[in-house]
Amino acid sequence: MDHYDLLVKNGRVLDAETAFDSIADIAITGGIIERVDPDIDPALADDTIDAAGLWVMPGMIDTHVHVASAADLDRVRGLGLQMVAAAGATTVIDLGGSMEALTAGIAARGSGVNVGSLGYLKPGETVPEGRLDARQIGKIVESALDAGSLGIKLLGGYYPFTPEETSKFISTANDMGAYVAYHVGTTETGSRLDGLREIPALLGSSGRVHIAHVNAYCRGSILPVDQEIREALQIVDDLRDQVVSEVHLARPNFTLGKCDESGNVEADVCRNCLRLKGYPTTADGIRAALRDGYASTVEATRTGLVLVTGERGVELFDEGDTDVSMSFPVNSAISAFQLSAARRTSTDSDRDFIIDAVGSDAGALPRNVNVEQSMRLVKFGAFEPLELVLKLSLNPARMIGLNNKGRLSEGKDADLTLIDPVEGKASHGIVAGRMIMLAGRVVGSGGTILTTDRGEHAIEPSGIPLEVIDVSQAMMYSGRPPRST
Ligand SMILES: [Zn+2]
Repeated sequence: MDHYDLLVKNGRVLDAETAFDSIADIAITGGIIERVDPDIDPALADDTIDAAGLWVMPGMIDTHVHVASAADLDRVRGLGLQMVAAAGATTVIDLGGSMEALTAGIAARGSGVNVGSLGYLKPGETVPEGRLDARQIGKIVESALDAGSLGIKLLGGYYPFTPEETSKFISTANDMGAYVAYHVGTTETGSRLDGLREIPALLGSSGRVHIAHVNAYCRGSILPVDQEIREALQIVDDLRDQVVSEVHLARPNFTLGKCDESGNVEADVCRNCLRLKGYPTTADGIRAALRDGYASTVEATRTGLVLVTGERGVELFDEGDTDVSMSFPVNSAISAFQLSAARRTSTDSDRDFIIDAVGSDAGALPRNVNVEQSMRLVKFGAFEPLELVLKLSLNPARMIGLNNKGRLSEGKDADLTLIDPVEGKASHGIVAGRMIMLAGRVVGSGGTILTTDRGEHAIEPSGIPLEVIDVSQAMMYSGRPPRST
């Protein structure tokens, strides 16, 4: 007779791939979904979760988090791993992390989530200063893969390269079968609409890339917000066979406050935020914006980071010698909404979304709001429940090439996120059949690192479980399915 490790009973099971939406039970054994059926006998299972009244979706996959920044090594090691699990994520991709910080973070505060990482490109740290030639760029991408990363992250809004270097990084990653994500901006453009406009030229006819947080380039710094949104959607839609993309749904952004010796703010993103409200782009400008409550910095608590403004914010900014995370409420709700909800209006009458996924750009930063905000869009009528699952799980799985995740059918990984539709929040997180989160409390530990066959040897000494994935299956390389649902 069949016997199961875990039974998730009576939930509203939502699987976007098969368009399954029905009250059903899910039986799990050995970390795999064994059966999805209307009525499975609880006597057959070691453990049962009563999911009556809850939605049961494939585990939320957040393709844009920050849980392993090199700077986290000493300060907030692994805190982000707790915060993503509390928000309902079961798999996350660190967009610009260090493998050293990731393994240390999992050891210190692992929450049981699966984590893949993209090596960040920062001159003077992971990249030599000065102009880079093709051979150097090749070595940099290779060393990211050899360290166990899935690929690279270009941080154009912070450490821009020339258009030629940027283009070469992308084509080199493409040639090596590495994942490549791009926060737009080169030495010629910024972390704005002009950075998006530059992408077709950077990619040429064959380049492939993940465009990070499209909404962050539609803050009205070049054109009125609605025009920026329209143009951004056109750019992404025109590049449909070459790019994947996500949008985050949080109002606060995050950036760096670091100032040079003359007191001038270094980061393009931070300067733009100050300019938007007429503050000087200096340390004093930041102090004034903190005192006025426009800017915030962050402070670590036991369970996560929180935003702090006013005089305490100024204190933290000065204690950190300006080199602190900053946040401004600059993300336009209109951009987040319109970009998330926008669908193609092409002749073949499909209603696919133009932007593939919701990604939080959170992790250690206090804005892990994918589930809450997407549930608001469901209540508002902008997403159908199955579309929420598409945006939060199936499309992210496709983006990374995780063919056993993002789906709830038999034989797939038993990663589940349960949502309380009344609260509009994730209530349970389950990874490989094991509970990692219950009612916002993280009960998981450890974690699994997603890596490539090339990086396996680098992870092994850490003793942290790993899963080798095939990046050639990532949607930017394997192509889009004929229809997204
Ligand atoms: Zn980011």
